[in-house]
Parts: sequence; C-alpha cells; structure tokens
Amino acid sequence: MRLSKAPLTIALAGNPNSGKTSIFNHLTGANQHVGNYPGVTVEKKQGRLNFKGHHIAVVDLPGTYSLSAHSIEEIVARHYIINDKPDAILNIVDASNLERNLFLTTQLMEFNVPVIIALNMSDMAHSRGMEIDREKLSRLLGVAVVPTVGHKGKGLDELVQQALDTINNPKGYHPAQVNYGRELEHELGSLAHALEFDKSLLNGYEPRWTALKLLENDNEIREMVGFSAPGQKITEAAEDARRKLQSLFGDEPASIISDRRYGFISGACSEAVALTEHHRHNVSDTIDLLLIHPVLGLPIFGVLIWMMFNLTFSLGEKPVEWIEVGVSFLGRAAERILPGGILADMIVDGIIPGVGGVLVFLPNIMILFFCIALLEDTGYMARAAFVMDRLMHRIGLHGKSFIPMVIGFGCSGPAYMTARILEDKSDRLITMHVTSFMSCGARLPIYILVCGAFWPVHAGNVVFSIYLLGIVVAIATVKLLRASRFRGMSADFIMELPPYRIPTARSLLIHMWERARVYLQKAGTMILAASIIIWFLMTFPQKNKFDTDYDSLINQTETTALAGEISDTEKNRLIAQYEGQREAERIEFSFVGRLGRLIEPAIKPLGFDWRLGIALISGFAAKEVVVSTMGTIYGVSDNEAESGSLRRKLAEDPQYSKLIAYAFLVFVLLYIPCMAAMVVFLRETGSWKEVGYQLLYTTSWAYVLALIVYQGGKILGLG
Ligand code: GDP
Ligand code: MG
Repeated sequence: MRLSKAPLTIALAGNPNSGKTSIFNHLTGANQHVGNYPGVTVEKKQGRLNFKGHHIAVVDLPGTYSLSAHSIEEIVARHYIINDKPDAILNIVDASNLERNLFLTTQLMEFNVPVIIALNMSDMAHSRGMEIDREKLSRLLGVAVVPTVGHKGKGLDELVQQALDTINNPKGYHPAQVNYGRELEHELGSLAHALEFDKSLLNGYEPRWTALKLLENDNEIREMVGFSAPGQKITEAAEDARRKLQSLFGDEPASIISDRRYGFISGACSEAVALTEHHRHNVSDTIDLLLIHPVLGLPIFGVLIWMMFNLTFSLGEKPVEWIEVGVSFLGRAAERILPGGILADMIVDGIIPGVGGVLVFLPNIMILFFCIALLEDTGYMARAAFVMDRLMHRIGLHGKSFIPMVIGFGCSGPAYMTARILEDKSDRLITMHVTSFMSCGARLPIYILVCGAFWPVHAGNVVFSIYLLGIVVAIATVKLLRASRFRGMSADFIMELPPYRIPTARSLLIHMWERARVYLQKAGTMILAASIIIWFLMTFPQKNKFDTDYDSLINQTETTALAGEISDTEKNRLIAQYEGQREAERIEFSFVGRLGRLIEPAIKPLGFDWRLGIALISGFAAKEVVVSTMGTIYGVSDNEAESGSLRRKLAEDPQYSKLIAYAFLVFVLLYIPCMAAMVVFLRETGSWKEVGYQLLYTTSWAYVLALIVYQGGKILGLG
C-alpha cells in the first residue's frame, strides 16, 4: 500500500465512545483499511486523508481510559505511540465528560509527540449546561483545543489544520506538566537521572515517563528496565522509592500519581469550565464550591491561617512556660555548680540564655508546622493556592509565583530556588524579590517572644497582622516593580486540585519532626556559636576601673540598712540600681556597647535602643539569633535576686512600650533576609546587582514602615 509512504501520520486516541471512529470515518471517507496490530487481535484501522495538498495517514487507535499496561488495548496504543512515533496525536475527548476524558490526555501529553485535543460531543456538553472556555483550556494545558461534533463532521477542518500547524511549529508546543508533589517528584527526578545515564535501558522511551512507570509499578516497563544487571539496580531503587512513598502516604504510589493527575485536571476544569445555573447542583464536590468560592475563598483562607496562629500560641503557652522554668533553673544551677571564671561566665551568661531563649519556642514551632502539614496533607493548601492564583493575576504576578511565596513562609532559601519554575525571567526576579516579605519561619521565634511579652492575650492576632503586613508589602512591591523595572504581564497555568484526603498521622508527624529537628540542629550549632560570639563581644574589652565605685556604694547601703536607717526593700532597690548601672557601664565599654552607640542615632527615630539594634544586626547571621542575642544581652544585665524569663524582662523594661514593640516587629518582618538566603539569592540570580536591589528594597521598607509606625503612633498618642 502507498499509505505507509505518506509523509505525515496522525493517530486518533481517546476513551471508548468518545467519537473516534466517527471522526476517523469523516476524515478518511472510503479510503480506509482494516487490519490487526502485529501479534494481537486488536483491530487496526488506517486511512488516508488528502487535506489542502497534504497526504496524511490517519490511524484509529483502540479506545482506552489510560495508558498503563492493564489491558491489551492500552499496551497496543502506547506501543504504537512510542515505536511508530506518529507526527501528531489527535486526542478525541468527550467534552460532556471532560474530567474523566482528560485523564488519558495527561498521559498522552507525557510523550514526545504533539497532542491536539478535539473537544468532541461539544453539542452534548452544551446541552448539558457546560460552557467550556476553549482558549483558556488550551492555555492551561499547553495544547491546542478544537471543538468538534464528530458524527456530523463539524470542526474537523480546523482540527486537521491545527494539527498541521502544530507539526510545522514544534517549538511552539509546550504541554503543561503534571506536578506530582514534592516527595514523588524527588524520587522521579533521581530515577530519571539514573535512567538517563544508561540510555540502552530505555529502548527509546522517555526517562521521566519511564521513571513514572517504575513508580507506578508497571510490569512491562519494570521488565524492560530490569532486563540487564545495571537496570536491575534501578528497578531495585524504584522498589525502595515505592516502599518509602507507600509508608509516607499510606497508599500505593500509583494511586497517588493518578490522584495528582485528577488534581491537575480538576484544577484546569475549575478554571475553564463553567456550569450554567441549572446544573450547578450536579457538582459533587460541594466542599470545593465553598473553599474555592470566588468571594468566600480568600476570607476562609484568612480565617484558617488566623486560627492556626492563635492555636500556636494558646496550645504552646504551657509547654513554653515549662521550658522557661527549666532553662532558668539550669542557669541558676550552672551558676552554683561551676567554679567561677571566664568559662563559667560564658556558659551562664552567654550560652544558656542565648540557646535557651531559642529553645523555649520549640513547642510553638512544632504546633505551627503540624497545622501546616495538616493543611497540606488534607489537600487544602492546593485550594489556597488556587484561591491565591486569581489574586496573583490581579496584582500582576504569574500564578506559579504563589508556590515559592508559600515556601517562603518556611524558609527563603529554598523558596528562591523554587522560583525556577517560572520560565520568564522578570516573573522570576519579581517573585524572588517579594518572596522575602513572606515572613520566614525563623522570624517566628522573634514574634513569639515580643508578642508574648507585650500582648499576652492577643499575641496570635498581632502575629497574624504582621504576616498580613508582609503580604501587603509584597503586593505593593510587585506593583512598584511592574511599573518600573519589570513591565509586562504573565500567563495562566494550572493549579492542581488533588482530592481531599484524610492525612496519615505518620506523615503529619514526619513533617512536624523534620521542622523540629532543623530547629534543634540550628540551636545546637549556629545559635550556640552566635551566643558565644555575642557574649564575647559583650564581655571584652573588660573594664576594670569604673567611673563610680559601685562596690563601696553597695557596701555603704548594706551598712545603713543594718543600722536600720533604711528599709530592706529600699536596700534591695538601691543595690539593684547600682548593679544595673555597673552593668550598663561595663557593656558600654565592650565591643557591643561601642557598636551599639555607633548605630544608635540611626535607629533612635524608630524608637529602638542600642540593644535592639545589636539584636537586629546579629539577625543577619540567622533570624533566630535575634532571640538568642536578646537573651544574652538582657540576661547579663539581670540582677541575680530576681531571675525572670526574657519575655518578662522585656515587658517590664521601662524603655519599651507596645508601640516600640510593634515597630520592632515590623522591622524584623521586612528587613534583610539572612546571610544563607542571600547566598542562594546570588546563586539563583547570578547578579550582585539584584542582590543589591534586594538589600535596598527590604531595608528601605523596614526602615520606612517602622518609622511610620513609631512616629505616627507617637503623634496619635499611642506611645
Ligand atoms: P468511538 O468508540 O470513540 O470510536 O466512538 P464512535 O465514533 O463509535 O461514537 C460513539 C457514538 O457517539 C456514536 O453513536 C456516534 O454517532 C456518537 N457521536 C460521535 N461524535 C459525536 C458528537 O460530537 N456529538 C454527539 N451528540 N454524538 C456523537
Ligand atoms: Mg471506535
């Protein structure tokens, strides 16, 4: 036959009863020919189409719902696509049953063959009240979409034309890729990498696709890869990965993968398909109707996050107090047991208050990350992302920007790296610049400390307001950057809506423990070192001769008290005062004191004294260090008679007020990210100029807003 010599081949793929054969018949008319696929009794229909001078061979593949190796039809279809490599696949989709039909589409899109979607049965979809936004669907999937009515031959000319256009412009074909989630993507990546290393194992299959099949435990692919000894290593690695995923999710990786595909589809359909009023009640997922509601979605998200912060404080209160008691007991015990000397001073005045000050907030951190894991594992976070996506677009960001921004609430470093998912350079840079305003997890201990001290009852609300402020500043920055350095708008993409799941306790605990471990690790290393350094800088150079002879003043006071001339309370007050003055003089003489005095004029307009200034500077090392530095600074100037928690000391310090505390919170929220994050920022942008901009944006926002809060508050009579 001359058919095989035809220059172009197009395959029709789709679910059974989607109308493939009807379309095939219309396209090929009488020029068809029925045979069998080699070795099996599955019917193979081929035909010839002459279209505007092109000779095109058309193949009607067997109808399937999926391309796993569950049935002979599925195997035949996938072999045909992989081995015969048609020039394009016409994916015939039953539009009236869109979500179920697109499941196959997500799999077709994973091959290296361009896909064109025929939105068939569009007449039925219409009469069932579905309005499909064809442009949007096409943009979201990255695949051309043409509505057709197969049995009447409507839309077929456009369909074939579209196929030719796509074939002739392969560079313009960018199918969307389903994101299988952090854990799965990680395993996929390493398997695909291993496969790529030894191409002979692949028989021409795509590495990522093959890795996916291995995780799905696809028999055929497993046997293909595991045929040789090096391949067997990979199948064993895949088996390990599968077991790991299984225990993490409490479910087969294959079903997680199909969940993700359905999530992707459901996200696309929520965006691109509208139901006329009459049909709305048919939608089974009533929860989503509420949670991703165009108006209610955002407030619901807000309320959930607000509840999360309040829970973090109220549940954390008791355990935090216990640890505080433990730390202060440890401090006093160490003081009693250790022989006096510089080493003992370092432990008692440097390490215990510094590291202890950070450790105290471990319960809050664990509760918060448990809540976040809960929101993620139930599938709610994806809805939040969906809700935010609309907002992102309105403010001029790519929807995908939401992902690094959410990660930024954990830690800015990995968030900057995630910004790689944005292909457009200016999208990526804007996202990275504003991700810094998503308050990172390391700042949380500072908030907990300050809010706990100044707003014992409303701490959760105050922290919530700080996070909100970060988002507002991020939005304002996007607007500014879009209007100045980066002009233009960005494209749509699909937010996956995975099905709701009951999370496994195991996965929640693992996520929470991971966080706690990182926190403890930091306390034991970075924070420990920083505490020692701060203590050192506060102790040296040592002042041996004081301006006033405090020792004799104290002696005098004691004598007068013994003589009964002043009361005991008066005596204690005076002694505390002298000791405080001596401490102040001593610290003023130290490196820290000198540095503090140097910067004080700059931060005075914000209401900060030198101690807060030093704490902020130390925060460049890591944000938790702000807390440990405060622990060391305020711990040292504590008189032994009355040892209280750092929170109490702050609250009782007459230098401070709620207004100063809030200005401080604002500054902490917005000012420069830590050193490690900046290193990542430099690596990801490859530009010192952008790092410079980043330092400029963050510091100016921090300074200006803290100034407004403090000075404005004073004018309003709040401070
Ligand atoms: P296949 O199983 O995918 O090959 O599907 P068929 O081509 O055999 O079609 C299944 C049924 O759907 C037939 O009765 C067709 O007449 C009908 N059909 C095909 N396309 C359309 C369409 O666009 N609209 C409607 N209403 N019916 C269609
Ligand atoms: Mg058929």
